[in-house]
Amino acid sequence: MEEMKPNKKPIIWYWIIAIIVFLLLNSFLFPKLSQKKVEEVGYDVFMEMAEEKQIGSVEIDGNQITFTNKDESEYFKTGILDDPQLVERLYKSDAEFKKEIATTVSPVSYFLMSYIIPILLAVFIFRLFMKKIGNRGGGANSMMFGMGKSNAKVYVKSTSGIKFKDVAGEEEAKDLLTEIVDYLHKPEKYAEIGASMPKGALLVGPPGTGKTLLAKAVAGEANVPFFSISGSEFVEMFVGMGAAKVRDLFKQANEKAPCIVFIDEIDAIGKKRDAGQYGGGNDEREQTLNQLLTEMDGFDGSKGVVILAATNRPEALDPALLRPGRFDRRIPVELPDLQGRIDILKVHAQKIKIAPNVDFSAIARTASGASGAELANIVNEAALRAVRMGRKSATQEDMLESVEVVIAGYQKKNRVLSNKEKLTVAYHEVGHAMVAALQTQSAPVQKITIIPRTSGALGYTMQVDEAERFLMTKTEIENKISTITGGRAAEELVFNEITTGAANDIEQATKMARAMISRYGMSEEFGMIALETSNSQYLGGDSSLTCSFETQSKIDQKAVSIIQTQYERAKDLLKANISKLHEIAKYLYDNETITGEEFMQILNAPSEYA
Ligand code: ADP
Ligand code: MG
Ligand code: ZN
Repeated sequence: MEEMKPNKKPIIWYWIIAIIVFLLLNSFLFPKLSQKKVEEVGYDVFMEMAEEKQIGSVEIDGNQITFTNKDESEYFKTGILDDPQLVERLYKSDAEFKKEIATTVSPVSYFLMSYIIPILLAVFIFRLFMKKIGNRGGGANSMMFGMGKSNAKVYVKSTSGIKFKDVAGEEEAKDLLTEIVDYLHKPEKYAEIGASMPKGALLVGPPGTGKTLLAKAVAGEANVPFFSISGSEFVEMFVGMGAAKVRDLFKQANEKAPCIVFIDEIDAIGKKRDAGQYGGGNDEREQTLNQLLTEMDGFDGSKGVVILAATNRPEALDPALLRPGRFDRRIPVELPDLQGRIDILKVHAQKIKIAPNVDFSAIARTASGASGAELANIVNEAALRAVRMGRKSATQEDMLESVEVVIAGYQKKNRVLSNKEKLTVAYHEVGHAMVAALQTQSAPVQKITIIPRTSGALGYTMQVDEAERFLMTKTEIENKISTITGGRAAEELVFNEITTGAANDIEQATKMARAMISRYGMSEEFGMIALETSNSQYLGGDSSLTCSFETQSKIDQKAVSIIQTQYERAKDLLKANISKLHEIAKYLYDNETITGEEFMQILNAPSEYA
């Protein structure tokens, strides 16, 4: 696929070029005008030259006299004095009286040069601009400055394009899209049975899962024109232009049918038109959306125009868009599972030099919850690290390190912690790890480190599930909360003092405890009552409580007690194993990073004091 980008040199360049050309022409064509050297002399010099008949020609205007020597090679000027005999004197000197002697060119060519040519030049350059600007919009007879044009990029077939094989995982989405590609290639096959393709298909899923990539792959697989435009490109500065762009896009698509139109990030224009928003909401966006709806209804589905769109906020879309006959096919593009992550890593690893013994499944395991975009980034970071380390190819270590870089922020070795702080962080992290390990049903510890990250975390305990998890039991959530509180519990036990280092833990624990009550129905008080609805299925976090203030305060109380209970439990667990806590914290303090195996070895070894 080659993208035929319209020529988009900024307008400013045309201006700069035009001005330079104009200046150059000016100095080549009219050197006399800009370069004639006139020497200023005193009146006495003038009188003397007149006396000695050395003046060739002379011009007198308002307040100065311009004159030349006999062979007219030098120009002089002088001011006019109150001199009654001036004319007589000049007459006697045989000087030639002239008008505008300084211009040696004839009056006609002077007029041409100083008026006509510059005007012609300006007109010419202006027309050139208009043509260029017009072309940017896509047509010569476009609206003024081409503002109503869709600017959709047209993809044409070429061999270097993205194909379905470049998209790892997402089998379901690929199957559904393959059908659309097949329809565009052999519409007769479908017409025979009387099946009609959906006019539109909507790719929905979290950011970075490959929606845009999939659409590009469709373009690469289908042998038809592919128009691609982003929803935000419809949002225009001038009222009515968004709607005009939509009209133009569909006009082009109808002419090129069969073809595919892809609208990326459609939520930019497809948001719910809510009534009664101050001043009636965003009129411009609504007009654009209305135009889109009208166009989608208007065109003939059998003609072979398929509209693809992508969004990560399907719930924010106007219901009218999702009505049958518009985007009635929804193609979910979810975060990759373990196998999907392995495949994505492998696809991207092909682009870099990688050591042959790299264990992709181990890496995919540590990157649980990562999106395709993050995994692509992990591979790239690994390659960068390999270069930094002076290696020829990326190793397992590079890959594992870059998982942490991408997921937890860059390692920041130059951040200096005092020894006391470092010790506190060591106890804090070992607190997390030990609470996790001392409970059944919690994910094994993979790694503990007290090397600070740029993300702000001073330490980091990595736990990795043995298999993909889709459900969590109540006990598991409780264990997780107590693991999270384990950091602060260790600090309090050992130092009898607490620090600000637990801020992130507190936030996480609170979220979980609240979710247990309001979303998962795991409290005796409320049982299976939905107290909260999530507004954004994919972007997360954006949810609102749907209960009275009274109930809200009860939820808060209950959350406090859940966390309190787990905190006490964590403290008890650590108290019972205090010698191990000291031992492991000391070891971590000395080594800065320890693996899960080292950790378990010390934990399970017979205690020195037993
Ligand atoms: P979205 O549009 O869903 O936000 P993109 O399609 O822009 O995500 O994905 C960003 C990048 O992430 C892609 O260019 C690609 O490098 C990588 N990526 C995402 N998903 C996949 C996948 N399933 N297979 C291979 N690469 C992927
Ligand atoms: Mg995208
Ligand atoms: Zn912590």
